[in-house]
Amino acid sequence: MIIPHHVTEMLARVRARIMRPGGEQSLDPKPEGAHSYRPVRTASEKSIARYWDLLMKGAASATDQEALADPTTLADAASYSANIENMIGTVKVPVGVVGPLRVNGVYANGDFTVPLATTEAALVASYARGAHIASRAGGISTAVLYEGVLRTPAFVFETLMQAGQFVDWVVSHIDGLKSEAEKTTRHGKLVSVEPVIDTNVVFLLCRYTTGDASGQNMVTIATDAFCRHAAETCPVPIKRWYVEGNFSGDKKASALGMLTGRGRKVSASVVLPDELIGKLLGTTAEAMLDYGRVANLGALFSGQMGAQAHYANALAALYIATGQDAACVAESAVGFTRMEPHENGLFCSVTMPNILVGSVGGGTGLPSQMAGLNIMGLKGAGKGAALAEVTAALCLCGEISIVAALSAGDFVRAHESLARHR
Ligand code: NAP
Repeated sequence: MIIPHHVTEMLARVRARIMRPGGEQSLDPKPEGAHSYRPVRTASEKSIARYWDLLMKGAASATDQEALADPTTLADAASYSANIENMIGTVKVPVGVVGPLRVNGVYANGDFTVPLATTEAALVASYARGAHIASRAGGISTAVLYEGVLRTPAFVFETLMQAGQFVDWVVSHIDGLKSEAEKTTRHGKLVSVEPVIDTNVVFLLCRYTTGDASGQNMVTIATDAFCRHAAETCPVPIKRWYVEGNFSGDKKASALGMLTGRGRKVSASVVLPDELIGKLLGTTAEAMLDYGRVANLGALFSGQMGAQAHYANALAALYIATGQDAACVAESAVGFTRMEPHENGLFCSVTMPNILVGSVGGGTGLPSQMAGLNIMGLKGAGKGAALAEVTAALCLCGEISIVAALSAGDFVRAHESLARHR
């Protein structure tokens, strides 16, 4: 019998760390002396200094304090209050730019310089290379195809019959429920409610448009008002209800999100002429297609949600640079990349159903994040859809560049030269 490596490895760790004299107690609960906790909600120079007094009694040093609680951060402390608790400073993530990237969109039109915040060497260079060839090819065509942010409350009943009666009641009282939800926001609109019954549990798939905001708070507050009104006025006895039944795909890659979208669904495409592929990417359309076939097979084998190379790289770096919720990369980084032969070269496209970005709200008003949006000219009202289109276009640049690098055998060389031997 062969014992798998992960089992022998796990046993070796347990033997070394736990099965030694005194080691058995290391995993026991130890409640004595645990600190009491009161969250600090309002950031100020004073509250930050108080935290550092505590931290310095532990492992932190004065150098750490200077790095995180620098003078600019301290001066701006109050402006972070709506975005963080227990604030002790700001992390400086290096920001590089990609572009100008030419976008010919339904909402985004022009040349965009896109800020990316990352510590991964070669990432900005790779996206910049994709942006260069796409712009030289005339730019990336983009279209927001659909928008709608889901919140999916769940209602629990005694019986299946009651669950059915509740759905009947919701359908016949939908106007009043919609109006209660929309009282909480000037920009959020409840555009559809789809019930899903599982015996005595009813999920309501509530989909909202959210103006120029990414909208997660907006839909949560609106759905809470919807649910409270239902709970107060519905004659069917509700045993329990939850504002989110973990059905919406919030911060998770999901089949529902891939099919129906959460946030904005965007397609972006470009045709790369053969001559530019040779000159700027050092490969050929044929070699890129050859690699693409293998990559799609790999995606199928591994059970990927969609088929793409690395949307998460662009999304994480752009979300951090512009004050989006970085955790939403978990749901945004799904979709399909396609590359196909075209009479004028190579057709390349991405379709991404879950782009969750806002040009207002969330972290977009923080000092450096707002600067990131300003660089693109995409801060403020009326810019949300354009930002989503630029996001998809940026992801396409990364797909082009990585497929070219892998097909040309440049992938490792690029990382080595930029990350290790610069
Ligand atoms: P928000 O900052 O909470 O709300 C957006 C605000 O901008 C609203 O007050 C809205 O007013 C206002 N606004 C002004 N002009 C607008 C325009 N043109 N379009 C849309 N809104 C406009 O942000 P959010 O987008 O709703 O939520 C994003 C945040 O939610 C992120 O920071 C994320 O981390 C967090 N989040 C929350 C949850 C949750 O379940 N609560 C889950 C995940 C993430 P009106 O409200 O009057 O329309």
